[in-house]
Amino acid sequence: SGKWAQAQSILKDFEEKCGTPISKLKQVADAMTVEMHAGLASEGGSKLKMIISYVDNLPTGDEKGLFYALDLGGTNFRVLRVHLGGKEHRVVKQEFEEVSIPPHLMTGSSDALFDYIAEALAKFVATESEGLHFSPDRQRELGFTFSFPVRQTSISSGTLIKWTKGFLIEDAVGQDVVGELTKAMERIGLDMRVTALVNDTIGTLAGGRYNNPDVVAAVILGTGTNAAYVERAHAIPKWHGLLPKSGDMVINMEWGNFRSSHLPISEYDQALDTESLNPGEQIFEKLISGMYLGEVVRRVLYKMADEAAFFGDTIPEKLKIPFILRTPHMSAMHQDTTPDLKIVATKLKDILEISNTSLKMRKVIVELCDIVATRGARLSAAGIAGILKKIGRDTLKDGEKQKSVVSLDGGLYEHYTKFRTCMENTLTELLGEEVSENIIIEHSNDGSGIGAALLAASHSQYI
Ligand code: ADP
Ligand code: MG
Repeated sequence: SGKWAQAQSILKDFEEKCGTPISKLKQVADAMTVEMHAGLASEGGSKLKMIISYVDNLPTGDEKGLFYALDLGGTNFRVLRVHLGGKEHRVVKQEFEEVSIPPHLMTGSSDALFDYIAEALAKFVATESEGLHFSPDRQRELGFTFSFPVRQTSISSGTLIKWTKGFLIEDAVGQDVVGELTKAMERIGLDMRVTALVNDTIGTLAGGRYNNPDVVAAVILGTGTNAAYVERAHAIPKWHGLLPKSGDMVINMEWGNFRSSHLPISEYDQALDTESLNPGEQIFEKLISGMYLGEVVRRVLYKMADEAAFFGDTIPEKLKIPFILRTPHMSAMHQDTTPDLKIVATKLKDILEISNTSLKMRKVIVELCDIVATRGARLSAAGIAGILKKIGRDTLKDGEKQKSVVSLDGGLYEHYTKFRTCMENTLTELLGEEVSENIIIEHSNDGSGIGAALLAASHSQYI
C-alpha cells in the first residue's frame, strides 16, 4: 500500500543520511587527527579538549600492596579492592561491589551524590579482612575513576568541566571532584586518601598496559564514549611544565565531543541533540554510544508511526517516551536469529506495547537497528584510525613489526556483537590488511577499575 511505501521511503532516506562509505570515514579519521593536533596546540584550540592527564608513567607490573578504586561514570558505580603482588604474583586478589545510583542523585546536589558514594565505600572498606591492611599507621589509598570531563590540575586533583550522560549537578561544576569526595569521606569519618584521579579511558589504558606493554591507546564504548592514548610529551605544545622523564604523557581526548562537517547527521540526530541535556555538545558520542543508539531508533520509528501509520492509525503511546527503547533492547532485536523474529516481536510488545506485528514489519525494524549500529561502529573505527595516524602507527615502517594494541572496554563493545564485529572489520578496511596485522584490538575486561588501583599504587604517598 501507499503507507508501506511511505515507511520504506522514510527508512531509505534515513539510511542515505547515515551512509559511511570508506571515503567519508577517511575524512572523519583525518579530521580527528587534525583536531587532535589543534587540541594539543592550545587550550580551547579544538572541540577536542585533549586533556593532559598528568599520568606520565603507566604500570610496569612492579606495583605492590593493597589499594582501592572507585569507578563512577554511568548509572552504576563500583568499588574495588585490589591486592597487588608485584612482578611475580601480579594481581593476588581482586574484589568489587557494584552499586546503582538512584536517579534523583544524578540531578541533585554535589553533597548528596558524594555522601552516597562515601557511604558505599565505607561499607565496602568494612569488609576488608584482618591482616590484609598490613600497617595500621598507613592510610588507605584510592584511585578514583571519574568518567566525566575534568580539567586535571595534578595526578590527584581536577575540576569538573561539565556533566554528560544524563548527570546534571550544577553545584559540582567547577569544583575539584577529589575535594568533594574527600570532604564526604571526612564527614563520615572514613580515613582514605585519593592518590590518583583518572577517567575510565585512562584506567583502561593503565590496566591494558599492565597486561600488555604494546598497549598505546584505550577506547570506551559504553553509556558514553571516549578515548585516551600515549603521546610524546614534546608533541604537546600547550604543555609548559618540565618534560617528564619517560618522555610520555597520557592524553584524555574527550573524543565524545568531536564534531566535523564530515559526520553523517540526520534530522533525527539533530532533534535528539536539541532536546538533550547538553545541546550542541558530545555530537560524536550521540552518534556512537549506548546511551543514544536506541533513542535514535525510537525517533525513526516514531516518524514512521506518525507519517506512515507504520503501527496502524494511532501512534503507540509508549513510542512517544524518550529513551524508552534502550540500546540493549535494540541489540537484542538486531541480533535476533529466530526465523520469525520472535525476539523483535517480544521486545515491541514488552517495551512499546505494540502487538500483532507482521514479519515484514519486524524485518524493517531489524534493518533500522542495523543502520544505526553500523554507522556508530564505523565512526568508532574511523576515530581509532585517526588516533593511530596521529601516533604514526597507521603505516608500516621499514622492517618494523611493531605491534600496536588498543584496549577496548564498555558495555556496548562487550555485549553488542554486531557492533563490535563491524567496528573491527571497518578498522581493517581503513588501515589495509597488511598494517592491520600489527594492530590488535584487545578487550580490557574491567581494566578501568584495576587501572585506577594500579595508578593509585604507582602514585602512592609512601613511595
Ligand atoms: P558505563 O558506560 O555506564 O560506565 P558500561 O561500560 O557497563 O557502563 O556500559 C553500559 C552501557 O552499555 C549501557 O548503558 C548500554 O548502553 C550498553 N549496553 C549494555 N548491555 C548492552 C547490550 N546487551 N547490547 C547493547 N548495548 C549494551
Ligand atoms: Mg564505565
